[in-house]
Amino acid sequence: EFVGDEVPSYEGDAWTDDEGELLPVLAVVGRPNVGKSTLVNRIIGRREAVTEDTPGVTRDRVAYEANWNGRRFTVLDTGGWDPEGEGLRASITAQAERAVALADAVLFVVDATVGATDHDEAVVKILRAARKPVVLAANKVDGPATEADAAMLWSLGLGEPYPVSALHGRGSGDLLDAAMEALPTEPTHGHRILGGPRRVALLGKPNVGKSSLLNKLAGEHRVVVDAKAGTTVDPVDELIELGGKTWRFVDTAGIRRKVNTASGHEYFASLRTAAALDKAEVAVVLIEAQESITEQDTRIISMVVESGRALVIAYNKWDLLDDERRYYLEREIERDLVRVPWAPRVNIAARTGRHVDKLVPAIETALESWDQRIPTGRLNSFIGTLVAAHPHPIRGGRQPRILFATQAATRPPRFVLFASAFIEAGYRRFIERRLREEFGFVGTPIDISVRVRE
Ligand code: GDP
Ligand code: GDP
Repeated sequence: EFVGDEVPSYEGDAWTDDEGELLPVLAVVGRPNVGKSTLVNRIIGRREAVTEDTPGVTRDRVAYEANWNGRRFTVLDTGGWDPEGEGLRASITAQAERAVALADAVLFVVDATVGATDHDEAVVKILRAARKPVVLAANKVDGPATEADAAMLWSLGLGEPYPVSALHGRGSGDLLDAAMEALPTEPTHGHRILGGPRRVALLGKPNVGKSSLLNKLAGEHRVVVDAKAGTTVDPVDELIELGGKTWRFVDTAGIRRKVNTASGHEYFASLRTAAALDKAEVAVVLIEAQESITEQDTRIISMVVESGRALVIAYNKWDLLDDERRYYLEREIERDLVRVPWAPRVNIAARTGRHVDKLVPAIETALESWDQRIPTGRLNSFIGTLVAAHPHPIRGGRQPRILFATQAATRPPRFVLFASAFIEAGYRRFIERRLREEFGFVGTPIDISVRVRE
């Protein structure tokens, strides 16, 4: 009998502890080279430096579980951005925006020996707009001689600068005390918001009706303008109340602002899609029902699947359909969207409002599936029965056996099969189909990987 000794963990699991409890998120933000990574190492108590000296190496945000005086929290490291990269200012601001959107509090790091630069000021603007609690770290104060440099940073208008030496540890206790004070005990605006507004992206090729739908959704229902600190996270998003709940529609500014350049139109559209997906938990992809499904439509759907977000497909402009088109649409869906038979579907007309009310239940179903966790015992008894009835074909005289299965992550659900030999893709797809039949998973991609055990 196999005993799972090394259940793999995914980056996403750092947002929760072993019991799946949510931890508040402290994001460490600042321009390159101020010492963010060094500080993160100090906070999480890791001795070896992870500072990246290779030019051009970019590292996306990484989350670690940390503990200070018994309080557990998640540290979000946004370091490792390419300092020589083109559009440095844009990448710093984008980094800060993303980190801030995910955080409950922000630790803003400035190099006290350099003082506040234009780039620092750009980050300050974002922090102000976000209205999240901010603690200002004046880093590289390695000794009393440079304390005065720290005091200069009062000029940023973010309150008291905490002098610290990330490298040597000087002042880090006081800094962390301040950070703990700033950090809410309950995660309120973190990445994994329980009961908070869930994040929806409206996607689709130009002219498919995204802004019409947005207007319908926002227009008929109260647009929430909540002045409470932290709730107006990102000015490009919109909070909309639907079905008794508040939803965050991400990057609606990008939807409302039309890109009119004929050349590069699709390129910019795909950039926007990627950025919106990055922030969203679930995507509603609009497809023009009265016209043939295009490559751009299927590409957007692939982007959603690959990003691991939940998916709802809305066929828009339903008012323009005749019977013949309806017939061909169904054939096209069978042919072009075979990859996502699990996505809930709604047929809408954003212009008239037809069936727009069906969107929210579809989104809720998709998110429930995205969040779903199958207990290990239940999963293994299901897989055991399935595999006994339909064993993997014998290969090279051997019978690959699945020894143990576990769901290693949610959002989206990820399964790991520990097997005695390689499991063929066709058999993995068979297992995926049966998992969906058994447990639902409507509206979410699921991932199945295999670890071979001798
Ligand atoms: P990041 O790009 O903001 O993540 O910065 P790093 O953590 O990679 O640090 C950039 C450089 O500053 C490295 O060479 C660090 O060793 C150095 N550094 C970081 N913290 C301190 C500090 O407190 N004092 C001094 N003197 N150097 C530091
Ligand atoms: P976006 O580029 O995806 O934001 O698309 P728009 O919302 O600007 O819509 C493009 C065009 O399609 C506009 O002329 C809309 O009035 C029209 N449109 C949007 N939804 C519908 C619909 O349900 N039915 C019809 N007939 N036209 C629609």
